[in-house]
Amino acid sequence: MAREYFSQKRILVTGGAGFLGSHLIDRLIAAGHEVLCVDNLFTGSKRNIEHLHAHPRFEFMRHDVCFPLFVEVDAIYNLACPASPIHYQYDPVQTTKVSVHGAINMLGLAKRLRCPILQASTSEVYGDPTQHPQTESYWGNVNPIGLRSCYDEGKRCAETLFFDYHRQHKLGIKVMRIFNTYGPRMHPADGRVVSNFIMQALRGEDITLFGDGNQTRSFCYVDDLIEGMIRLMESPEGFTGPVNIGNPVEFTIRELAELVVEMTGARSKLIHLPLPSDDPTQRKPDISLARRELGWEPTVPLREGLEKTIAYFRQIAN
Ligand code: NAD
Ligand code: UDP
Repeated sequence: MAREYFSQKRILVTGGAGFLGSHLIDRLIAAGHEVLCVDNLFTGSKRNIEHLHAHPRFEFMRHDVCFPLFVEVDAIYNLACPASPIHYQYDPVQTTKVSVHGAINMLGLAKRLRCPILQASTSEVYGDPTQHPQTESYWGNVNPIGLRSCYDEGKRCAETLFFDYHRQHKLGIKVMRIFNTYGPRMHPADGRVVSNFIMQALRGEDITLFGDGNQTRSFCYVDDLIEGMIRLMESPEGFTGPVNIGNPVEFTIRELAELVVEMTGARSKLIHLPLPSDDPTQRKPDISLARRELGWEPTVPLREGLEKTIAYFRQIAN
């Protein structure tokens, strides 16, 4: 009993009302921790955490991480940031601010508390990659002035800040480069490819392939991703990352569309729309580092993850 008490931590999750944050909180609560969820509900939703409201180890605080935060915690997961292209391009100046000012504020908090902090970074730091698959040592191919730059460069600058706080202030950091992740609680209108295709199929609408549909992505189911995130936070202090966490099985966007149509039984047609600017042509993580350092690899195949995701979207559509 005493041991359980001492292994219980008070953990801050910024962006905890979002897709990934809410799944992370479920895992942390199930492991016996106390969780403080900080979110300004820009893209997240109270619905994602409503099942936790009466829980004695859960607390929600509505707050924008661009402003300083004074709380007492033992560890910080920094996830606050809009993640889908239509959300982060809606107010691009705010997107850079949340990545950079948010990182500065959370790193400052971690520095005062001397606690570990994990950054939800992204495969977008590789931009439109010229190396395939992407390893962590690849520096990327990012347009600094395009429509995606607010997110890509914001996240790159956040990584810089994390490593400078580590070198300068000896802070215990963990930097996780997340590749495309999907699952229940994605926002149905976030325009991301998995949610978009499923919603279009369930409504019997045309499925919108941007460009020729031959661009590739690798899709990781949310439970696998969260397992990787927790393993990274719990890894030895000397291991900082950056580490790729994603599913290395690569699909074209057309293959994804065909699978969604088949699995939903939809009569939707595939149609083509113009490719958004700077849309990466191919993306696939090299996960050797995660395998070696974290003993992690994804276990959920796309078809199985899509079944659960389609079931979720059917349920919220009713
Ligand atoms: P999401 O939009 O569902 O969640 C982000 C959360 O951050 C939302 O709840 C939103 O309200 C909150 N937020 C935004 N700005 C904020 C601010 N200024 N202050 C406080 N809260 C704020 O997105 P997600 O998919 O859950 O992504 C979570 C994190 O993981 C993000 O940092 C994202 O960049 C990163 N990531 C996600 C993916 C993916 O495929 N899902 C891929 C790469 C990186
Ligand atoms: N995409 C598409 N149709 C859609 C939404 C997205 O063809 O309705 C494509 C998009 O152009 C990109 C891929 O799917 O090539 C993944 O898009 P998403 O926005 O999910 O993520 P990201 O581009 O950030 O990887």
